[in-house]
Parts: sequence; structure tokens; C-alpha cells
Amino acid sequence: MSEVFNVEEIFGQNVFTLGKMKERLPKNVYKEVVRVMDQGGELSMEAANVVAMAMKEWAVENGATHYTHWFQPLTGITAEKHDSFVAHPDEMGKMLTEFSGKELIKGEPDASSFPSGGLRATFEARGYTAWDITSPAFLKESGCGVTLCIPTAFCSYTGEALDKKTPLLRSMEALSEQALRIVRLFGNTEATKVTASVGPEQEYFLVDEKLYRQRTDLMFAGRTLFGAPAPKGQEMEDHYFGVIRERVGAYMKDLNEELWKLGVTAKTQHNEVAPAQHELAPIYETANIAVDHNQLVMEAMKRVAVHHGMRCLLHEKPYAGVNGSGKHNNWSITTDNGVNLLDPGDTPNENIQFLLVLACILKAVDTHADLLRQSASDVGNDHRLGANEAPPAIISVFLGEQLEDVVRQLIETGAATSVKEGGKLLTGVKTLPDFQKDATDRNRTSPFAFTGNKFEFRMVGSADSIASPNTTLNAIVAEAFCEAADRLEKAEDVDLAVHDLIKEYLTEHQRIIFNGDGYSDEWLAEAEKRGLPNIKSMIEAASTITTDKAVKLFERFGIFTKVELESREEIIYETYAKTINIEALAMIDMAGKQIIPAVVKYSKALADTVNTVKAAGADTSVQTALLKEVSENLAAMQTALAKLKKVEADASAIEDVKAQAFFYKDTVKAAMDELRTPADRLEMIVDKDIWPIPTYGELMFEI
Ligand code: ADP
Ligand code: MG
Repeated sequence: MSEVFNVEEIFGQNVFTLGKMKERLPKNVYKEVVRVMDQGGELSMEAANVVAMAMKEWAVENGATHYTHWFQPLTGITAEKHDSFVAHPDEMGKMLTEFSGKELIKGEPDASSFPSGGLRATFEARGYTAWDITSPAFLKESGCGVTLCIPTAFCSYTGEALDKKTPLLRSMEALSEQALRIVRLFGNTEATKVTASVGPEQEYFLVDEKLYRQRTDLMFAGRTLFGAPAPKGQEMEDHYFGVIRERVGAYMKDLNEELWKLGVTAKTQHNEVAPAQHELAPIYETANIAVDHNQLVMEAMKRVAVHHGMRCLLHEKPYAGVNGSGKHNNWSITTDNGVNLLDPGDTPNENIQFLLVLACILKAVDTHADLLRQSASDVGNDHRLGANEAPPAIISVFLGEQLEDVVRQLIETGAATSVKEGGKLLTGVKTLPDFQKDATDRNRTSPFAFTGNKFEFRMVGSADSIASPNTTLNAIVAEAFCEAADRLEKAEDVDLAVHDLIKEYLTEHQRIIFNGDGYSDEWLAEAEKRGLPNIKSMIEAASTITTDKAVKLFERFGIFTKVELESREEIIYETYAKTINIEALAMIDMAGKQIIPAVVKYSKALADTVNTVKAAGADTSVQTALLKEVSENLAAMQTALAKLKKVEADASAIEDVKAQAFFYKDTVKAAMDELRTPADRLEMIVDKDIWPIPTYGELMFEI
């Protein structure tokens, strides 16, 4: 057996937890930190100095040599610039490490090379990082040694958010404030804060490093741009929850250890549907920390894979024809006196506060379905949403049998007098216990499903930050709460007004509820009839964030200014265009330098064979037919390659970012598909020893 491993001991080892602060800080400073964490405000400079000193001492004791303000620019990943604790030595040459309160609280990285969507010209390079006291500092162990990471927000010189954390924090405050108004209506005077909790289930693929390095597409685009299907895919349904292979298991073990040390509650691991696809789910936590932790999970997944001679693919669609990867974003809202506002209890029909919250959420999701869809879009996710894989790009809400029945009663009569029970599940075996069934089955095809005491937003892409989906969710629900509270606080008879409001919201927004098969064609038609938006791509969704409706929503709660939204829309087009450009260039490279030369070699071998066979006086029809097929596909590849090069050059010349993004989507992508088709056909007929790149079978099964 391997060495004894104590989860309790290592958990949070690399985190400057509240516990460590309590131990290391003077009582008054500790209290000030807790107060600012809970209620906001600023830490005094004296307190910041004391915290910085304690943090540095702890970090240095644990081997840290550097610190960094760790932030989340609009690249979707994280950024860090390391500074060592080294200070000026005294005249005797002795150096004492240094880290001040000021360095803890504020940083000033050059912002000019991060996406800003025209928010500032490159000569206005100043950007600031500000310590987010609500997310704990931690130590990152990597090739650089140990680095103290301080989670920070990132803003421009003029105060615009240049990151994903700032709007998220703003949305959490808005949600808290408005949700408090709702619980007050029901007599909850104790709660002082309402928090969004998030548990993101992360899917990923693993691939052998040696094979990965032979694939230009995987290295540069994170997904395969060529590749014929393997003889076996996921059709046997034998991978999902299957026995975890030794090599993958060893990887998961190290990954868990690293995450636990970072205070990430890695909880569930299993094989996913596609071969070489897996999932990791943590236990849910405060949205802000969940977002930070999800970034750490993605980083650790990639880093640990390399130590095991593998690569981790977070792309939403690394392989055509098998399942892609997503990230189920489980979301709920809880008061600081322990009430989950999404918990229906045993009798949801009598739980008026729950029904009001539910009605508000349905209204929010229906009103802003476009924004929610947008929040889950990234370039890779275009291969899933509304494409050949679900969930569809149409937002709808699954409530399940029990709640749907309650909602129906409320709409019909204004009151729900009965509730469907789950009943007993009889196993029919004497030695097995019978068990209580849930009142509601699951629905895997719904993009926004109620799952007991939370909503599961299933559209989010595997490579994407979960900041935007949660910012949007918090914002739209805050708005619905706000509008409800505005009316109810004024009502003479609150009970009556609540009932009326629930009935009204449910009636008006019932079109968003859908319990059927979200993958079916009937649903597409039905959704269209209901007038639900079906936005097919990331760039078509981009403009939803700058509509009057969106600007009003986000400005009202101080989450985004119009300028920030416009800049973000521009970044979406830029990101899209750049990504497809890289993919197109990778295809041109592979087709021109690897695939076509290999096929030429193979056709020469075939032609030589035809001649030899002919010279021997034997029948050459088989060889000739094969040669003809190869030549035809080769010619198709040549033509498609020339066309792709041409449209690629055309695309680069377009100046308007939006027009450019659409050209990439409509024209360049089509040309990419045209190049792929004959190449994949050739892969099925060309001699395996000559084919220049690893096949799908090797990539997915040799692990
Ligand atoms: P399910 O089986 O419905 O997918 P799990 O218990 O497996 O639910 O949880 C999936 C994810 O949802 C986990 O990350 C879990 O921590 C998270 N989760 C559970 N309860 C909540 C909640 N109340 N709010 C947010 N996330 C939650
Ligand atoms: Mg789940």
C-alpha cells in the first residue's frame, strides 16, 4: 500500500484560513478582518500591515519566495505577476523579507496587454488590482516553487472593471440586498445577508502527452480539427461510471491531494460518457470562492496531468462525434441564518416564501433568457449549445412533476391545496430495503433544472469561467426580487398581495417551464411557438448584453456600466475571431505540411504498385480504384485548402470586429469543414503507417 494519507490533516494546508488568521493575528485585528469580510468596508492601514506581516510569515515558513496578486482578466483564465519577498539588504549584506499592507491591498500591473474592448487605449496602461478579502489567500506550488497568491479584483485607471470578479462581487451584493427585502416580508428579521452558493461539476478529457505533442490542433486549438471516428466511441455506454483505469486513478489521487491542500472540497470523481472523459465535482460554497476555486481546479487539472505524462483537455468539444464537456453550475441562495430560499420543504404548496422565490426566478429566467444563454457562451461551447449536442441553446426551466403540479394549481385556482408525494420504491427483494422516492425524477436534457433545493444551470462550457453565468443569475434574480418587493412592501394586505403576485408571475411566465425532452425536434418547434429565444452562437448572443433591457438591469444594480458592457461585447467578437483564426491556421498547417504530403506519398506507392502489377500482367482494377479514390479526395483537399487560405486572408483584412467575427463564423468555419471532410475520408483509406497524426482511437483509448 502507498503511504498513509490523512485528508483531515492536509485539507486547507496551503490556505491562509480564518483559523490561521485567528491564531496569528492580534484579537482586534482579527475582529476587524472578520467584520470587513462580512459587512464590507475597508481595512485600516495599520490592520492591513499586521495582516500582511502575518501572511508573509506564514507563507515564508511554508517555503514561499514570491507573492502575487492573482486575478481574472477577460481572457477567461487567471493572471499572475510574481514579486519576491526580497528587500534591500542592509550594509552588512543581511536581507529581511518584506511585505507591507499596501502591497497586500493594492497592486498595479500594467493593464495594456489584457483584453479591454477599447476601454482604454494602450498608452493608458494603468490597471489596479485590489485585494478581495472574502476569498482567502493561498500558496501555489508549481515549477516556480511556492507563491503566495492573493485573490484580487482588477480595474482600470478610470475605475471600469477589467475582470470577472468585480461584477460578480457587485452582483452578489445586489442579490443579497434584494433577497433580504423578500425574507423580511416573511418576518425574518435575523438575517443580515443572503449568499449565492455554487457547486460546479467540471468535466474534462485526458490524453497521452506523446500523442498530444504529435497533434498541432490539440496543441494550438485545444481540440482536434481533423479525425475520422474510431471504430468504437461511446455507444456501448461502458465508460460512464466505469472502473477508473490505474493511470487515470493515479492522476485523480494527486489532483485531489493538491486541491484539498488548496482548500478545494474535491468530492466526487467518475468516468464520464465519452472515452477518456472524466468529471470532478466539489462541494458547493459561496459563489465568489466557488469561482476562484473552479479556476484553481482547471489549473491543477492541467498541471497535474503533465506530471503523469498526460494532457488535460478542457475544451468543450475536443473530439467530433463523442460527448463534449460542460460544467453544471449548481446554484442556490441562503440567508446567513441558515435558510435556503430554494428549499421547498415537504409541502411546497404551503411554503409561500418558496413559491414567491420560485415565481421570481421563473420571471427572471423568462425575462432574461437571452442574457442567461449569453453568459454560458464561449467559442468552444458553440459546438455544444444548439449544435449536434445538447443542451439546446433555448433556455427553459425544468421543475419536475411535483412542482409543476403545484404551479398548475396556483395558475388555475390561485392556491395549491395538494402536493404529489414521492411514495415508496419497492425493490422486490426481501433482503434489500424499500426506499422513499423523490417526488421528482431527473431531466438530463433541461438547461436549467430544479434539483431538489437548487437550480442546475447546465449550459456552461467546461473551459469557461463560471463568473459570468453566476453574475447574470444573481443580477436577474435580484431584479425580480426588487420588483416584487417594491410592490409587496407597499401592499395593505401583504398575504393577499403575495398570493396575487405569485399567480400573476407564474401565469405570465409559464412559457419558460418545460419538463419534456429538450433534445427533441418537437421542442424546437414548440419553443418557437412560445416565443422563446433560440440564439445559436456565441457571437449572435453577444449583443444581448447591450440591449436597453440589459443595460437597465445591470446599471440599476451597479453591476456593469453601459461602457463596460459595450467593451465586453467587443471582447466577445475579438475573442471569437482570434480563436477561429488560430484554428484555421492550425488546419492550414496540418493539411499543408502533414496530411497532403503523406497522402501524396501513399498515392505514389499506389501508382508504383499499379505499374508493378500491370508489368506482371495481372489485374490492376483494385489498385486503380483505390488510387482513384485517394486522388479525388486529395484534389478536394487541395481545392479546400486553397479556399481556406483565401477566406482566412479575407477575414484578416476586415477591420470592424463584429463583421470580422461573423465572417469567421459564416465563411471561415464553412471552409474549415470543407477541408476536414476529404481529410477524414482519406484517413480511413490511407496506410496507417503513412498517416502522419495519431488517430481518434489512439487519442481516446491509449491512456
Ligand atoms: P446532483 O446529484 O443533483 O447532481 P449532487 O449532490 O451530486 O447533486 O451535487 C452536484 C453539485 O451540486 C455538487 O457540487 C454539490 O456540492 C452541489 N450542490 C448541492 N447542493 C447545493 C446547493 N444547495 N447549492 C448549490 N450547490 C449545491
Ligand atoms: Mg449533477
